[in-house]
Formats: sequence, C-alpha cells, structure tokens
Amino acid sequence: MKKTSLLLPLLFLSLAFLYALGGPGNTSAFQGKRVLFIGIDGLHNDALKRSMATEAAPNIRGLIDNGMVTWNAYVGGPLNGIGQQSTVSGPGWTSLYTGTWTDRHKVIGNSTPAYNQPATLSSYLVAQAPAFATRLKSIVPDACVASISSWSWIEDYLVAAQPASFDYHTKGIGSSYPQRDESVKNLSVSYLGSADPDVMMLHFDQVDGAGHASGFAATNPNYINAIAAVDAHVGDVLAALRARPDYDEENWLIILTTDHGGIGTSHSGQSSDERTICMALNGPDIPAGVVSEEVIGQPAVAHKTTSCI
Ligand SMILES: [Zn+2]
Repeated sequence: MKKTSLLLPLLFLSLAFLYALGGPGNTSAFQGKRVLFIGIDGLHNDALKRSMATEAAPNIRGLIDNGMVTWNAYVGGPLNGIGQQSTVSGPGWTSLYTGTWTDRHKVIGNSTPAYNQPATLSSYLVAQAPAFATRLKSIVPDACVASISSWSWIEDYLVAAQPASFDYHTKGIGSSYPQRDESVKNLSVSYLGSADPDVMMLHFDQVDGAGHASGFAATNPNYINAIAAVDAHVGDVLAALRARPDYDEENWLIILTTDHGGIGTSHSGQSSDERTICMALNGPDIPAGVVSEEVIGQPAVAHKTTSCI
C-alpha cells in the first residue's frame, strides 16, 4: 500500500509536467481520464430498481446495465462506530466530497456553523477533511474540477470552505426542486460544451423533495416521477458528454450514487431503507453488466475519483 501511495503522486506530477495546460481529448493533466459524478439526493434503492424496470429511468438503467453496480453500498458510517453519522444530506455530501465519515469531517447535520471549531462538534473541519478536489489540486494544480449542485448547502458551505479547489462551482437557480434541477442540467450541459473538466460533480435534488412530500417508496408514483425527471436530465448531460468534439479520445468514468435513502417521508436514522444505497460505475475501463455484492461506504466515491485519474 505504501508503494502505491508514493507512486500515484509521482505519476500525477509527471503528467502535470507533460501537460501543464488542461485541454480537450487526451491533452489534459491526466491524458484524457476524467470523472463525471452524478449525485441524486434521497434515492431509495427499491424505487430506483422499479424505475429501471418500468422504463421510467432508461438513462440510469443504461449506465448500470453497461457498467458495474452494487446495491449494497451504504451511508451513515459504520454502524455503532465512531464514524456513524445521521443519514441526512449534510454529512452525506461531505462524505461523498471528502472521502471521510463524521469522525473526521465533524459535520453532523444540515446547519452551517463556522468552520474548524471542533469544540462545537458540528462544524466542518476543513483542514482535517478537505474535499478530494483540494487534495487533487495540491498535487496537480492544473486539474480542472467543477461542482454544480441543486442544494445550496453544497455550494454555499461545503465548496465555499475551499473555493480555490473548484475551477467552476455554482448552484441551480429556481424556486422549486424541479426548477433548480433543470438549472443544474442546463449549467452542466453548457459547461461540458465550453470547458474541459477533469472532474465534474453534479447534484440533483427533486427526488429527495418528492420523498419528503409524499414518501420514499417504490409504490409512490410522485416519487417515481421525480426519478424519471432526473433521469431525463441525466440523459441530456450524457448526450452533452458524448457530443464533446474529442469525446473519442476521452476516458470518462461515470459514478452515480446518492447521499441517503428514506423511510416514510423522512430520513436520518440507521434503518436499511435509509442506509443502503446503490453505487454505480460506468466507463471504458469498467466491465459491463456486473452486479457486485460489495458492501462499500460512500467515502469510496472520493477515493475512486482521485485514484482513477
Ligand atoms: Zn432529505
């Protein structure tokens, strides 16, 4: 393991020297290897499976059928361990962005206290748990990282703690979940058509909104409709990705997951409905049609993102 951890930074540095300026195709800091992360807030496993089976989510189904998935991934940290955390969005997105649980990042809810105050046990310890983008850019300053989120907390608190780590960061605009998600989709399509991100993090929120309004259940048509709406956005983003002029030279790893499930019309506890999620990978280097039984925590997203490029 020590050999690997030494080798990777050296590889990053050599690539950064060869390709000091990021660009399209394989003229990037990572020779064309790129990551698109698609985060769908509050996505219950059973409802996603039903959406795939009923053609409500053809784009997500395409990603999963042509890639790898585990339906045994989890949020909420190790049960009864020091890293156990509430299955709400603040700790969840912090874990996805930083690759750590609450024993390190210290975010315990959706509030926005001042940073770096361990005495409160509720403030984000930025130095102790920087976003993967911060670690990546400390090694490869020319790496291009983008974050576009529907939930303002991600932009205004998590990303705002380390804005220099994100070359492009913004949030969806609108007065409703669907409007903000539409805005995220439009911003994403526009950015993919005009920039050359090495890593792009997207967050959609209306599935969680529908769950709170009427239930996080596969039998709830409103919840399924929200998944279908986000699936359509995913389709538009993937079309924009594949329309990039030098797409054939690019090697995109697509990661799709969520921050938590739900039970009834809420979430925060440690039930399987709230903890157990899907994590899907798709890309040229990912075997197709593989359903893994792997039990993997959501911090794996940050680790996968930094290790694959
Ligand atoms: Zn929620």
